[in-house]
Amino acid sequence: MKPYESRWMDDDLRVLRETVSRFVETEMLPHEPRWRRQKHVDPATWRQVGEAGFLLLDVPAEYGGGGGDFRHEAVLYEELNRRGISGFGQGVHSIAAHYVLNYGSEAQKQRWLPRMARGELIGAIAMTEPGAGSDLKGIRTRAVRDGDSYLINGSKIFITNGSIATILMLVVRTNPGDRSRGLSILMVETEGLKGYRVGRVLDKMGLTAQDTSELFFEDARVRADCLLGGEEGKGMHMLMGDLPYERITIALGGVAAMEGVLEETARYVKERQVFGQSVASYQNTKFKLAEVATYTRVARVFVDRCIEQLVAGTLDSETAAMAKWWITDTQQKAIDECLQLFGGYGYMNEYLVCRLFADARVQRIYGGTNEIMKELISRSI
Ligand SMILES: Cc1cc2nc3c(=O)[nH]c(=O)nc-3n(C[C@H](O)[C@H](O)[C@H](O)COP(=O)(O)OP(=O)(O)OC[C@H]3O[C@@H](n4cnc5c(N)ncnc54)[C@H](O)[C@@H]3O)c2cc1C
Repeated sequence: MKPYESRWMDDDLRVLRETVSRFVETEMLPHEPRWRRQKHVDPATWRQVGEAGFLLLDVPAEYGGGGGDFRHEAVLYEELNRRGISGFGQGVHSIAAHYVLNYGSEAQKQRWLPRMARGELIGAIAMTEPGAGSDLKGIRTRAVRDGDSYLINGSKIFITNGSIATILMLVVRTNPGDRSRGLSILMVETEGLKGYRVGRVLDKMGLTAQDTSELFFEDARVRADCLLGGEEGKGMHMLMGDLPYERITIALGGVAAMEGVLEETARYVKERQVFGQSVASYQNTKFKLAEVATYTRVARVFVDRCIEQLVAGTLDSETAAMAKWWITDTQQKAIDECLQLFGGYGYMNEYLVCRLFADARVQRIYGGTNEIMKELISRSI
């Protein structure tokens, strides 16, 4: 099969891919089993990735970023996801930074982005609460203005990077009387913050190297100038504007995982002998691999188009929602077919296919469930 290369690749991006791939292989992959055991990535790794210049690749250089666009970010996502390095929550880190970039004042950008680009600050997005997941308008974590500060009370759950995060993109309720216009976003630095506490690092089906956590706020006081968007009540509007970016990162992660699993499976079935012949020699295996290769190619072409539109600023939220639900559903199906070809070994955590299978399940849940994606799409039909 002729190798496929995304239309958006160019020589600079090819060089970046080579450098990133080498870095991931030597500096990250060897630590991955330990990250899974300890249930978090070392904060030192964040600084290392920052020093290598791979954080915030699509943030302008004047704010410490790489000065590129989403294609540069895409290279990093792909190199991580195809190898199943799912504990390093660079996606949410970048998403949090983009809220600052898109809605922050000049002073706020200067205050947070360079430190996020260096990996000195680790970002998280803290929206979900025990009583508010899909229904974000149900958020109850309260921020009350008190002079030059906000007093925060409430809790968040399922927060990616939660235990090691040092800057939160925190969605709070500033007006209890208005469900949609009563939400605001605060950028909260957590180091030494009194009244802030990380709860459990949650025990999950997959993404075991990822410190998905509970967060608690009890009279936590932050400076009022951490409010994004210039005024209270703009939270929902900002979220609606930035969710397509998040959904494309999820869809792209799904495509990269499919590409990784296909490569791994093709290698395995050629080596594994059953009844005196390779697993690859059976027609069932050939047909399954042909199906997975087709799913992967269709998903890749779709996500590449979305990436081009994202870079051009023309990606609409319905198309991003289509990519998110269809690719993540397909990812699950494709990895499941591959896992079957590994027999019992596919059920063992030491095999990449097993970890990718477990990691894939949540792709259909977070970033807005796939049902919510269909709800969004249906409104435009
Ligand atoms: C591993 C992991 C990491 C996560 N990381 C983050 C993070 O970093 N930051 C963050 O803020 N959140 C994060 N989340 C939370 C995630 O975004 C939510 O779990 C998700 O949005 C669903 O919310 P919920 O769990 O409350 O489910 P619910 O909203 O209770 O949904 C339950 C079911 O009802 C369905 N449903 C809900 N509304 C509708 C509707 N209108 N029509 C049809 N069906 C509907 C859903 O699709 C789902 O099947 C993470 C979750 C996980 C598991």
